[in-house]
Amino acid sequence: MILPPATLGMLGGGQLGRFFVAAAHELGYPVWVLDPDPHSPAGLIADRHLVAGYDDYPVLDELAQGCTAISTEFENVPAGSLDYLAKFVLVRPAAAAVSVCQNRIAEKEFLRRHHLPIADFIAVHSEHDLRAAPLSLFPAILKVARFGYDGKGQAVVAGRDEAIAAFQHFKGETCVLEQKLALGSEISVVLARDEDGQVKSFPSAENSHRKGILDVSLVPARLSPMLRAEAAELAEKIAAGLGYIGTLAVEFFVVEDQLVVNEMAPRPHNSGHYTLDACLTSQYEQQVRALCGLPLGDPRAHSAAAMVNLLGDIWYETGPAGTRYREPDWSRLHAFPGLKLHLYGKHHARHGRKMGHFTVVDEDPEKARAVALAARTAIGIVDAP
Ligand code: ATP
Ligand code: MG
Repeated sequence: MILPPATLGMLGGGQLGRFFVAAAHELGYPVWVLDPDPHSPAGLIADRHLVAGYDDYPVLDELAQGCTAISTEFENVPAGSLDYLAKFVLVRPAAAAVSVCQNRIAEKEFLRRHHLPIADFIAVHSEHDLRAAPLSLFPAILKVARFGYDGKGQAVVAGRDEAIAAFQHFKGETCVLEQKLALGSEISVVLARDEDGQVKSFPSAENSHRKGILDVSLVPARLSPMLRAEAAELAEKIAAGLGYIGTLAVEFFVVEDQLVVNEMAPRPHNSGHYTLDACLTSQYEQQVRALCGLPLGDPRAHSAAAMVNLLGDIWYETGPAGTRYREPDWSRLHAFPGLKLHLYGKHHARHGRKMGHFTVVDEDPEKARAVALAARTAIGIVDAP
């Protein structure tokens, strides 16, 4: 067991890293963060912020010397860097598990090998693959195999010609072409798995997106208890198959009351922010616990929850005189009982940039949802969720 005053390392300085730092501090561990951005949210509150690239080997050496164990929050951290660090310190999750989740082809092949339900797909390395694609795949979504997030690097395509045009638009980068499903809803399961293979799952969240970015998460997901249990089982099977140690998120589609695995994230997840305010242990504390070999905490939710993402869009107010940049009026949110606001300390708000979130907790899920939606409107998010 790794105990304080051991220092922990975090690759990535975004909001997920920031909550990891806070959870580690709570348990008494100092944390060093590696992130190239000098103003990164986690770097701002870390005991030390190494401002460098993820493949800067002299800095990786320094991190390895200063830390006893290292985790990651940034999905695209080079697997080579994780492997390199693992020669000197404990790294969790392992590079092999992270790299499966970094590449949509490896990810889907892994899921297929483990007989998990997925949308039909083909790997696309060249235009030839698209010409040979079965017509039954269309309408489809072409997705770049690597580095996509928040719906970026994706195109909905009605048929072969559109797919070829989209592939050219992505400059011939390796892609997957997957069948476009008629989604009933989307849910996610966040779990933690320890070194002995013990798993603790959080209640599943029901997620809605706006412009490809998570907008609202409702917990518990409005699904039958049977489907909720099945989602937790499938997520656990994935974690076991990956030999995963740490916090893992699995996104699912619900299609005609059947679960289809969309993708995994080898880290805490945006849809698991609610665990900070509604569960006995948060997804970030679990990440610290799994990393350090502590027993996993109790993931039970003591309340229902509704989480709303706050994007940079609400910093821009449009009036008769044009668009003005100003701080949103946070007092409007503080007026709602049961609402917990989290701001990430990012210096500049851009459209689509995740700047913070809030969670409304209540015994009654419908009430949590209603209050969260009213607060969402009050802070200036105009379009319907
Ligand atoms: P994020 O970073 O938000 O997880 P991402 O860029 O990794 O997103 P995906 O999760 O693959 O991308 O897709 C983003 C959204 O696009 C999904 O949440 C879903 O709403 C929609 N989508 C993706 N794949 C399909 C599909 N096969 N059929 C229907 N809708 C889909
Ligand atoms: Mg996704």
